[in-house]
Amino acid sequence: MPQKVISIRSEIRKPGATAPRYDGGPLADTRGRPLRDLRISVTDRCNFRCTYCMPRAVFDANYKFLPHAAILSFEEIARLARVFIGLGVKKIRLTGGEPLLRKDLPHLVAMLAPLGADLTLTTNGSTLVKHAQALRDAGLDRITVSLDSLDEATFRAMNDADFPVEKVLDGIAAAADAGFAPVKINMVVKRGVNDHQIVEAARHWRTHGKPGGHILRFIEFMDVGSTNGWRMDDVIPSAEVVRRISAAFPLEQVGANYAGEVAERWRYQDGAGEIGVISSVTQAFCADCNRMRLSTEGSLYTCLFAQQGHDLKALLRGGASDEAIQDSIAAVWRARDDRYSEIRTADTAKKPKVEMSYIGG
Ligand code: SAM
Repeated sequence: MPQKVISIRSEIRKPGATAPRYDGGPLADTRGRPLRDLRISVTDRCNFRCTYCMPRAVFDANYKFLPHAAILSFEEIARLARVFIGLGVKKIRLTGGEPLLRKDLPHLVAMLAPLGADLTLTTNGSTLVKHAQALRDAGLDRITVSLDSLDEATFRAMNDADFPVEKVLDGIAAAADAGFAPVKINMVVKRGVNDHQIVEAARHWRTHGKPGGHILRFIEFMDVGSTNGWRMDDVIPSAEVVRRISAAFPLEQVGANYAGEVAERWRYQDGAGEIGVISSVTQAFCADCNRMRLSTEGSLYTCLFAQQGHDLKALLRGGASDEAIQDSIAAVWRARDDRYSEIRTADTAKKPKVEMSYIGG
């Protein structure tokens, strides 16, 4: 069903014949924001069907994932990563879909690690027991594991793949054993679905291992894509998360590690480490957004909520030089003016947007 595919992948703009020469100067968009962070989706496939991300009714047996020939090879990804780093990118996050479903991912990590950016990965943790050490040995700097609930029934219902909590916990332990410290844990909070687990999750991770060994981060449920049935009523504002945890374990706010950090940091007053809250709905951070996203098939997006991408694969496979690719990326960044989360309304939430599994979460 081609229409389904088009609405999910968005419109992709072909590169212009010539972009103005990149002059080597600091890259800023129309709002003065620098380019610092690149997220690379290495696969659009996932073994989970999280109801808020890849609902089974859409991502079913008929759904056409990208064929292998359409997705960027490791060599193409590494070449683009080098070009992005030349434009000022300091941090690269590998994501998806589920990145560990991509065959030989540690090999890609080994190709990217020497380029010098801070290299991170977000995973659902389902196969981390098998891969954690190889990822660390290949040079991965940091890891984030998603785990929305410690309650078995809630977690299985949310991942909609009947996947057990314990296997993800084993994956997190394997990551810590392999030397990732801290391991960050993402928990998307949806009202009436897992918000009863907020304090329980805080209690578990604050006392788990040595203080600061794991950092739990609460993410507001977002209207990414066009298929997850988002409603404002389902969002638990981060302020409420902080209030609920503070009532059990008093928290105090801590300053950001660096400008543009997505998570707001709070630490336990008793010294048992910290949590983060990511409030892209109730406290939009577009003003500091320094991220670009490279989709699995090599389209470039300047916003998680974009409706249109820019085709870098056509340049790569059309024989363009590194300089021409750099010019093209620089031109896209300089023209960027998105600030979706600042202007979000119930109406914008209904507009077609690219799916998170394709663009990279
Ligand atoms: N498969 C990997 C994973 O589960 O972490 C990486 C991709 S996933 C799209 C990246 C992150 O986005 C996960 O932490 C996931 O929970 C989060 N996410 C997906 N859909 C979301 C939504 N609608 N609102 C908020 N966060 C979402």
